[in-house]
Amino acid sequence: MSARVRLDGRVVIVTGAGNGIGRAHALSLAEHGASVVVNDLGGAVDGTGTGGAADQVVAEIRAAGGTATASTDSVATAEGGAALVRTAVEAYGTVDAVIHNAGILRDRTLAKLTDDDVRAVLDVHLTGAFNVLRPAWPVMAAHGYGRVVLTSSSSGLLGNFGQSNYGAAKAGLAGLMQVLSLEGARRGILVNTIAPTAATRMTDGLLGDLADRFDPRHVAAVGTFLASEQCTLNRHILTVGGGRVGRIFLGVTPGWYGGPDPASPDDILGALDEICSLDDFIVPDSGADEVELIQKVLSRKVSD
Ligand code: NAD
Repeated sequence: MSARVRLDGRVVIVTGAGNGIGRAHALSLAEHGASVVVNDLGGAVDGTGTGGAADQVVAEIRAAGGTATASTDSVATAEGGAALVRTAVEAYGTVDAVIHNAGILRDRTLAKLTDDDVRAVLDVHLTGAFNVLRPAWPVMAAHGYGRVVLTSSSSGLLGNFGQSNYGAAKAGLAGLMQVLSLEGARRGILVNTIAPTAATRMTDGLLGDLADRFDPRHVAAVGTFLASEQCTLNRHILTVGGGRVGRIFLGVTPGWYGGPDPASPDDILGALDEICSLDDFIVPDSGADEVELIQKVLSRKVSD
């Protein structure tokens, strides 16, 4: 029989779990045996206001026979993140996994962004990850096991008009994964990222005719897997939507080498095709792998 994903006895925090993708994560995790801390401030898509979304999802989970506790703390503050982790530890004794999924939108082109639009979006998505992970990390590290799932976006990884605040935050989360996956490996903590596409209030009217194919449960299947002990992936960005699951990665090319003397801007102009060629790219496991690639290129040219 093939391996089965189960989270019995595991405690998982899901931020932004009152709606959309986070709600689907929470329901799926509970269905697979986890005790879930359903965190949600309950506000509008732009982050204003509060509400009872977390309580509703907890009620749904309990009605289905699952185990869940609500937290209405905001992940946008360090105090909120600490209170959320405290809720998990007080309710279930520990934290085994964190899915940081909370998010808001304040879409405007750069010239129209207000200070508040920039700060609010970075605070929930990017600083929010620090606010929850800084208190959760030592709890997971203490028992030598953990799973972290961050939520990025094609907007930050590939670009989307009018979303510079959001895109920067989402790219920042991928950068956070690159480092935490290295720091976590020696403590048994694996860190991966989802870049989702799902029909939620955040994408209302944006997914066209196929919107009903983008059920958030497609994303939740990947979230539950990445939060489970059966997941041995580390430092992967999985792109998920509508039942398709793929990978987004960063590659580095050997590039052009102009010799030991500093090149001139004219040399760079003349070598652009070779510099931008994707031939022979690698997908490094860390920044150190790129240094190794540079060393290889230099030693090859020296011995030529
Ligand atoms: P959603 O608006 O349905 O859910 C986001 C949830 O986060 C909301 O319930 C909201 O109340 C909560 N939240 C906002 N600020 C919070 C805070 N400070 N503290 C706690 N909770 C807070 O949107 P969604 O589409 O389900 O988005 C989930 C995640 O996926 C977000 O990070 C979003 O950026 C990302 N994402 C979604 C899509 C998509 O296609 N839907 C695409 C790319 C990325």
